[in-house]
Amino acid sequence: MNCSICSGKMQDKWELCSDHLLALKNIMKAFKAWNKAHDGILKREYLKEVTNRPETGKVVVEVTKFLLEDEKHMILWSKNNQGN
Ligand SMILES: [Zn+2]
Repeated sequence: MNCSICSGKMQDKWELCSDHLLALKNIMKAFKAWNKAHDGILKREYLKEVTNRPETGKVVVEVTKFLLEDEKHMILWSKNNQGN
């Protein structure tokens, strides 16, 4: 199977290649800090915010857009939260 976003080689159970997996992990890590600072901001609001920031990298935007595109794609995020 290939990465859900770019059709690169998929990492394990993640359905993402190493580049997009790394970007997703960074997004999730940053969300934790944001969530504290913004008193329980929703994931979707956060993802939209990140997408629209001019300094956000291309690979990260590909991940945020992918997650926002379909509610089912959010499962990638939930998977990680169960994982640790
Ligand atoms: Zn990829």
